[in-house]
Amino acid sequence: RAKLNGRNNYAFYTESMTKQAVEQLKLQTALHQALVNEDFYLVYQPKIQLTDLKPSGFEALIRWCDPILGQISPAEFIPLAEKIGLIWDIGLWVLKTACLQGVKWLIQGKTFERISVNVASLQLQRNDFVDKVRSILLETGLPAKHLELEVTESCMMHDPDAIIRDLKLLGAMGIALSIDDFGTGYSSLNYLKKLPIDKLKIDQSFVRDIPHDTNNTAIAKAVIALGHALNLQIIAEGVETEEQADFLRLNGCDLAQGYLYSKPQLPEELNLFFSQNPSQ
Ligand code: C2E
Ligand code: MG
Ligand code: MG
Ligand code: MG
Repeated sequence: RAKLNGRNNYAFYTESMTKQAVEQLKLQTALHQALVNEDFYLVYQPKIQLTDLKPSGFEALIRWCDPILGQISPAEFIPLAEKIGLIWDIGLWVLKTACLQGVKWLIQGKTFERISVNVASLQLQRNDFVDKVRSILLETGLPAKHLELEVTESCMMHDPDAIIRDLKLLGAMGIALSIDDFGTGYSSLNYLKKLPIDKLKIDQSFVRDIPHDTNNTAIAKAVIALGHALNLQIIAEGVETEEQADFLRLNGCDLAQGYLYSKPQLPEELNLFFSQNPSQ
């Protein structure tokens, strides 16, 4: 009887493993195709100044709609793209597409402070990243003062000196830099002090249920105080309720982003969120 169970377990195990491997392979193949076929597109989520509720800028977020597999979340395919070496090309596509969109808006007289683009740590680790960013700005014509890059704490895990040098170069070009998902990754206050950044993004896991969740409330307050002490602007992500926004505003948080203001949307759906429209 034990033997039978064992065999059944074994069979079940290999079968599910194979199925998972096949699914993974399908996804990988589709991801390669997506880059060729341009099955990616960007949506943009407004960032709002908490003091006066004026719009500040947008975060570009990638979307993938595969003709057969349907819509696949970046939380699923970005880690896969990192694993199979596609993140470099996808990252460049995102940066170029966001810059082109920015130029288009500016030409239309729609003004905004900055478009933020997420940068994976693997992108930053390449020594030609800074040159690529510079050439994309030149090629698209977006002024550097309208671009922001969001990096995560994990970028400091390999060769922090090289990363700090590159971030300084990007900053010197006029690009703003923020730490995304702050507090969820590899954190060191020592690095935070050295990093040439402009903003901290409080991760949405710490914004959830404030002011009711006492731990998150304490963490959010501490991040705001820490960031301000280091002369950084603070932005909260995942703000869904007025209550959260009020709390963040009262505690000095500078900016907010979340469903309360807007979901990430297609570029033509964002007319309410420019600092100035041609019609105004
Ligand atoms: P992130 O950069 O921290 O982006 C915030 C995520 O929270 C986005 O998910 C956004 O749609 C979602 N969000 C915004 N407001 C709210 C809210 O009020 N409530 C809730 N529950 N969620 C909200 P999304 O678009 O699925 O992206 C997930 C992650 O995938 C991003 O997290 C980022 O790490 C990564 N990602 C997305 N686009 C790119 C990209 O172009 N390049 C890279 N390297 N990573 C990207
Ligand atoms: Mg982000
Ligand atoms: Mg984030
Ligand atoms: Mg996050």
